Amino acid sequence: MKIAVVRESHAWERRVALVPESCAKLVQAGFSVAIESGAGADAGADDEAYVAADAVIETDPRALVESADILLKINPPSNTRERSEIDWIKPSTVIVASLMPLRHPREMKALAKTGAIAFSTDAIPRTTRAQAMDTLSSMSSISGYKGVLLAAAELPRYLPMLSSAAGTVFPARVFVIGAAVAGLQALATAKRLGATVTATDVRPEVKEQIESVGARYVGIELEEDASAGGGYAKELSEEDRQRQRDMLVDEVARSDVVITTALIGGVFAPKIVTSEMVRSMRPGSIIVDLAADGGGNCEDAVPGETVDLEGVRLIAPLNLPATMPEHASLLFSRNVTHFVETFSDEGTFEVDTQDEIQAGCLITRDREIVHERTREALHALD
Ligand code: NAD
Repeated sequence: MKIAVVRESHAWERRVALVPESCAKLVQAGFSVAIESGAGADAGADDEAYVAADAVIETDPRALVESADILLKINPPSNTRERSEIDWIKPSTVIVASLMPLRHPREMKALAKTGAIAFSTDAIPRTTRAQAMDTLSSMSSISGYKGVLLAAAELPRYLPMLSSAAGTVFPARVFVIGAAVAGLQALATAKRLGATVTATDVRPEVKEQIESVGARYVGIELEEDASAGGGYAKELSEEDRQRQRDMLVDEVARSDVVITTALIGGVFAPKIVTSEMVRSMRPGSIIVDLAADGGGNCEDAVPGETVDLEGVRLIAPLNLPATMPEHASLLFSRNVTHFVETFSDEGTFEVDTQDEIQAGCLITRDREIVHERTREALHALD
């Protein structure tokens, strides 16, 4: 089978779905691999590196997509006047990409019409067997790391305690809201930089994980269980939300940096940090809203922008993994390669919906959306 990899077409996207290391593995596994010229340039992989890994360079993206048996991408296929990959996809092409179907159900409908068999890597079940294929984890970890660096670069103070001839400065206080993959990486990064770190989450089992990276846990006893299964959280009841707000008021006010990462069902961001909480922080404090892609955890967040709120800077970055294209591409590439290899035999990918991993992340097939939650999200828009 022929695997095709195109250049990601958004101006803000600097990652590539497959790096040369993975091309060589897939060629060894019996596939042929073709890459659009320049696709890996921002990720530190030039055309020569792909050729050395036995891939073929293609200059015409349309011919590349039309000839693909498997199309590997970071983002959903483009659908713009300048470049409409979706019109080039032939029926039964297997697509493996981070489609974010619950955020983009209408795009999934258009994708279904092509007849593609589309798998979304962000819907891969969070199981031990699927761990090596989990692009959501790889990318969230980058966001957590980079979020702390953004805060450190903007903060008008040191993060660590420092003693010098001029005396001692005390460490900054970093508070993380939501402590799954991104949050735990943010805590570990802030800790390594010497900050005093605290975190909260609504799933009580996370307390131990927070403490394991050297952070202090703060939380409230919830009236209603907030676990939605599979390690995901559900929305809090109005009473629990109020009790959480009461707890957060003091914690946010005393922090120099607040990093928010909370998501419901891994997709949408609950509003947790109020305007009042932001204004209670000392001028010069920083908030990084890492849930901006899902709408943001802060009432005042403007996704993709930084706003100044009476001296507190609220940064709401979008697609942070794209700002670290080399390692983000390497990890994404290893994840999708693992996915393809797991279900292949001698260069042929087998669609097997009896397999729980494929069943969990298959979004479109036979010109239909087959992913139940995506169908529900689409109906909710009607
Ligand atoms: P996520 O992005 O869905 O959510 C981030 C965190 O926000 C979660 O811990 C959630 O409990 C928390 N949250 C939601 N609402 C909140 C609120 N109001 N206040 C405070 N915190 C709130 O999380 P994720 O990184 O996608 O991970 C989801 C789950 O999957 C976790 O349990 C994680 O351990 C698990 N996981 C498992 C595997 C695996 O086994 N292969 C891999 C990665 C993640």
